[in-house]
Amino acid sequence: MDESEGPPWPGGTVMIEVQNLTKRFGTLTVLTGVNARIAKGEVVSIIGPSGCGKSTFLRCLNRLEEPDGGAILFDGADILAAGTNVADVRQRMNMVFQSFNLFAHLSVIDNLTLAPIQLKGVNKAEARENAMELLRLVGLGEKADHFPDELSGGQKQRVAIARCLAMDPEVILFDEPTSALDPTMVREVLAVIRELARKGMTMVIVTHEMEFARNVCSRVIYMDTGGIHEEGPPEQIFDAPQRPRTRAFINRMRSVRHSLRSKDFDFYSINASIETFMQRQSLPARAIHDVLLVVEELLQIHAPVIGRDPMELSVDYSEASGLLEVAIEHEGAEENLLEGAHLPDDIGVTLIRGMSESISHGYHDGRNRVVVRLRQPSSKAES
Ligand code: ADP
Ligand code: MG
Repeated sequence: MDESEGPPWPGGTVMIEVQNLTKRFGTLTVLTGVNARIAKGEVVSIIGPSGCGKSTFLRCLNRLEEPDGGAILFDGADILAAGTNVADVRQRMNMVFQSFNLFAHLSVIDNLTLAPIQLKGVNKAEARENAMELLRLVGLGEKADHFPDELSGGQKQRVAIARCLAMDPEVILFDEPTSALDPTMVREVLAVIRELARKGMTMVIVTHEMEFARNVCSRVIYMDTGGIHEEGPPEQIFDAPQRPRTRAFINRMRSVRHSLRSKDFDFYSINASIETFMQRQSLPARAIHDVLLVVEELLQIHAPVIGRDPMELSVDYSEASGLLEVAIEHEGAEENLLEGAHLPDDIGVTLIRGMSESISHGYHDGRNRVVVRLRQPSSKAES
């Protein structure tokens, strides 16, 4: 690739250089001539729409998928070359998966020592000692003799990270390490990854956690159909994306939508997804609390039409303008439930008024839309 055409290179020793990488599944070409470089000690996040090839790219890096063409230079040597020891490559570029993949029949410590003993020939005592140290690093020293089933999702993922470290990798590849976790457990896993970043570990992380990507990663790669579409420092990708598709994706990441088609909608899972969304936007705890309260009140106020009219709930946040809005829409005849006669002195309405900058009701194309704009605390405060 012509140097002048590529994104600015942040500097440092190149550890992985991907050249013209191609990967097909049957007639589907997922990666078309992808070029990328990763420096020693860099923490790079990969974002992009579902199905665009993020996992495939990551899995090609350590040959969990066989690329169809191109080269991957790892410390200068092409690991796609004939005669490459693939097992060795995977140890040096070890991977942490979304679904943990722990061995259920082995205790935590045995999960950590299995591969070093069997694949690296480390003696048992040394493997255990090293494993204990790693468990303490991820805050789970006291869980060594437990079984995976006895751990929370966040703890399982921390064990999986410790197990990955037990192979003493030069690079760790993370494939959406927090997306199988409840919002409350995301932080503990990200904290461990952040600690590894501080220690200088080279990492490539596919993630939807925008706050994390912004604060921890030196570079963000935006992938879209076919390969890498834009890359740059987090401030560029999140605040000033250069290309329309990147911009559209970042904007989509700034809202969360739920359709409510029956009275039996899952309130807790909707709440959790809204909370996760706002944490990813670096919104302070106070704003998250307010939004969740407004959502709850809006749902109560709209209870009479839930299940009767098709309905959509959404939370939108624009970091650039600082606008934070909760909206609820329902189809049908015009009616403003916030001002309905059936709600004299409704405490929910009073609550929402107290927390909001404005509340509006509109009626267009057969849809009622109530928008609550929240008072915006200075964005990106402590959380
Ligand atoms: P992402 O991780 O960005 O969501 P993936 O890399 O998992 O995307 O998938 C990219 C595309 O390749 C998708 O269309 C997916 O269906 C397809 N794909 C992934 N793995 C396989 C496979 N083993 N066989 C066939 N198609 C696959
Ligand atoms: Mg994936």
